[in-house]
Amino acid sequence: MTHGAPLLLFNSLSRGIETFRPIDPDNVRVYSCGPTVYHYAHIGNLRAYVFTDTLARTLRWKGWPVTHVINITDVGHLTSDADAGDDKMEAAAKRTGQDIWAIARHYTEAFQRNLADLHILPPTHMPLATDHVAEMIAWGEKIAARHCYQLDDGLYFDTTTVPDYGRLAGAADDAAHARIDAVAGKRHPQDFAIWRTTPPGETRQMEWDSPWGRGAPGWHLECSVMSRRYLGASFDIHTGGIDHREIHHPNEIAQNQAYCECGDTGATFWMHNNFLVDRTGKMSKSSGDTLTLQRLIDRGFHPLSYRVMCLQAHYRSELEFSWDNLFAAQVRLKRWAHAVEGLRARAEAPGGADVSGYHAQLDAALSDDLNTPRALPVLDALLADKRLSPADRLEALAMFDAALGLNLTSLTRATLRVRPIEATVDVDTIEARLAERRAARAAKDFARSDAIRDELTAAGVEVMDGDPLGWDWKVAI
Ligand code: AMP
Ligand code: ZN
Repeated sequence: MTHGAPLLLFNSLSRGIETFRPIDPDNVRVYSCGPTVYHYAHIGNLRAYVFTDTLARTLRWKGWPVTHVINITDVGHLTSDADAGDDKMEAAAKRTGQDIWAIARHYTEAFQRNLADLHILPPTHMPLATDHVAEMIAWGEKIAARHCYQLDDGLYFDTTTVPDYGRLAGAADDAAHARIDAVAGKRHPQDFAIWRTTPPGETRQMEWDSPWGRGAPGWHLECSVMSRRYLGASFDIHTGGIDHREIHHPNEIAQNQAYCECGDTGATFWMHNNFLVDRTGKMSKSSGDTLTLQRLIDRGFHPLSYRVMCLQAHYRSELEFSWDNLFAAQVRLKRWAHAVEGLRARAEAPGGADVSGYHAQLDAALSDDLNTPRALPVLDALLADKRLSPADRLEALAMFDAALGLNLTSLTRATLRVRPIEATVDVDTIEARLAERRAARAAKDFARSDAIRDELTAAGVEVMDGDPLGWDWKVAI
């Protein structure tokens, strides 16, 4: 049973809005290109997974069970879109002198913690590329004769052997490929490596034997192999960041078409989130000072503030990162937490009021190509609706949590209080001093109350008397 309005989604293949109809209503299948685990994900990467989580939650909200795959790219992704150069993983191992497998494990676990902190539902499968190399070789063997040619440094895919190569990339196609460095011997600039052989005299930490020599798979191949392996030949939705629309996804499509010897791209919908941009240039994983989720936490932001920031923008719009923008999102989250605490304090048994109007509004927003900026004011309206009892509002809140993943039913203001890493005072000390200050004020000992306030100010704690959100203090950052 599905409910609500038809689900409209933007399909990059047609560059238009289409009505989503599952191939199998009992199992909607979604594949999201996963992170390359040579470094911590930056918050731009994480925007991609807040988007896929909103998508998966919306599909479930509509009543369809979902199988969601996010792969882990632990081999194959080169330092540029070119087929020349180092594997990102190998380069990180060389740079740090660490074991490549340990690097992959460390950053995969860090990524999983990021997902949990952002309240992103765990995907059904999270396959590692390195666990599927034999299947990649088998795929290469199946398509090699008709679609590939061998050069000294590997097996290349001839993109003129499939229909409509680059249809997904559309007009941007030529510009994107103009950026690819030429590899000597390639028949066409857009041809790409299926397999990269290790240069003679070198060894890589990750390499396998293949019919084309010892080496490693090309990055694009892994997603074709793992999506088919976990979701079947033809599944519902393939997602990734907008950068993947130009090269990685057209290459996956070409491989899928070569494998099935048909025109099928592999997925009905190809969806792309736009970028989080940062004028200070801290978004790159390779810059020393990357904007990771942990950096936001270290500065006193709750991770869900970042989720709010993402939801305030439509996934197809560019979103500019700034600390002010994040701060505004955190204030919004605190307002909700404050309102929910107020409701909780006053809640009695639910009155069974009709909240279907809110249900319909939330559904209409999500059905409109996951329009989260439109959904958030509906949440504001629900929390403030005095015609509904506190218990009824709390009950309706659960459906917003299911759809938006903000966890408001269990968030408290106390959990939202994140201590910046540089703060020298701990929360217990602050609370104890503030209790003393309240006692001093009750006893009209204002000199003592002011002294405590000055002492806290000197320690970097701002006391916020009469804050409308009931926030008694914050650590200045
Ligand atoms: P990577 O780890 O580089 O393979 O990227 C993981 C995901 O993040 C991919 O879907 C990328 O398209 C996406 N991505 C990379 N940079 C950004 C960004 N600044 N904003 C949003 N998504 C991004
Ligand atoms: Zn991919």
